[in-house]
Amino acid sequence: MTAPARVVVVGASIGGLTAAETLRQEGFDGEIILLGDESHLPYTRPPLSKQILLGEWTPEEAAIRTTAELDDLRIDVRTGCAAIGLDVDARVLQTSDGPLPFDELVIATGTEPRTHPLLTDAPTLRTLEHSVQLRERLQTARRIAVVGSGILGSEIASAARKHDAETLLLGRSGSLGFGGVGRLLTDRLSSLHEDHGVELALRADITAATPATGGGTELTVDGTTRSFDLVVVVIGGTPRTRWLDGSSLDLSDGVACDRAGAAAPGVWAVGDVAAWADPVTGEHVRVEHQSNAIEQAIAVASRLTHGAESPQPVPFFWSEIHGTRINAYGWFDAQHPLIDTTTDADAKGAVLESRDAAGHLRGVVGWNASPRDFRTARTAVVTSAPPVPQP
Ligand SMILES: Cc1cc2nc3c(=O)[nH]c(=O)nc-3n(C[C@H](O)[C@H](O)[C@H](O)COP(=O)(O)OP(=O)(O)OC[C@H]3O[C@@H](n4cnc5c(N)ncnc54)[C@H](O)[C@@H]3O)c2cc1C
Repeated sequence: MTAPARVVVVGASIGGLTAAETLRQEGFDGEIILLGDESHLPYTRPPLSKQILLGEWTPEEAAIRTTAELDDLRIDVRTGCAAIGLDVDARVLQTSDGPLPFDELVIATGTEPRTHPLLTDAPTLRTLEHSVQLRERLQTARRIAVVGSGILGSEIASAARKHDAETLLLGRSGSLGFGGVGRLLTDRLSSLHEDHGVELALRADITAATPATGGGTELTVDGTTRSFDLVVVVIGGTPRTRWLDGSSLDLSDGVACDRAGAAAPGVWAVGDVAAWADPVTGEHVRVEHQSNAIEQAIAVASRLTHGAESPQPVPFFWSEIHGTRINAYGWFDAQHPLIDTTTDADAKGAVLESRDAAGHLRGVVGWNASPRDFRTARTAVVTSAPPVPQP
């Protein structure tokens, strides 16, 4: 395989940076250009809803690499530079700084927060700026509504209670989500929230949102109107592919790729924006977890350097809610409830298992489990047989 002379990576966050770094670590000697539309060097997002929101970290601590480290790796990082178009056949990227030809392109542009039609100006959480602004608002807000019952909603509700605010967590689906585990953890998560004073409304219908006299927002939920100092909206994300319109790529839900991350000759996609074909079902699946972005980026960079195909990433997700550390590894199936394998009634943590119809262990959840117990449990997960459907 002939090595490309120039690889351009769009999206300077965990997926893009990992692709660029891995290329160098694997011995790629050509030019690497990493461009991102944010003004920052690459930073990691998990602390935005945890350590930074709780005031335990400064924003600078979320940075992944220093300028000196990136220089050592000979990665040409161009911040504040947006990709605005792509000609796949000519292998030319259009950017806010002008056209940029490439031999290979890696797309890692992530997602952007979905907006609620009645709350278009409400704060949300995706970027470092969002996190810093939200942290400031949490210092003074006494009544907070969090709209969105996924994992981010749970984390923000947890931070709001840490600031002692009266907190309402609203969802529509009837359950609390946790990445690929879906609603299987709802009962445990609901109890955890209620034990920490979070009010839950999981089948809530928001019919009106108006500015309250004296600041804040009046929300009408299921016919009752209440006033909140702060309403935060975290109702999922949409892939950032608008800049690729007209490019000939399949953009049905993110960038559709084959099972190795190729979207077209010379074009690859990784991370939250990428929908890789499942090797068994052929269906295109997007996974919004940091470890998935890292593993896909490593797989694509290795492929570009050596032509070698890497094993499919196994979904892995973690969170910390009201001080409880939750890890999920593997695949989970709504038809098969989680089984608590803990035998010690006094144990502080638990390991929950998900098995498929044939009895194969397909996923494990650590609920405040010790790192050792969780590590032992995840090594037993069967990753080679066909994945069970997602809930
Ligand atoms: C608050 C928060 C907490 C999270 N916590 C966890 C967690 O605890 N565990 C976990 O596993 N995952 C967590 N995640 C998810 C995880 O952060 C994502 O899966 C991961 O960031 C995906 O990385 P990515 O590189 O694919 O995309 P992103 O991190 O979204 O990066 C995409 C980058 O591309 C840039 N970009 C977009 N369009 C363009 C363009 N046209 N030109 C140039 N640049 C562009 C964006 O500005 C951004 O910088 C969390 C996410 C958030 C928002």
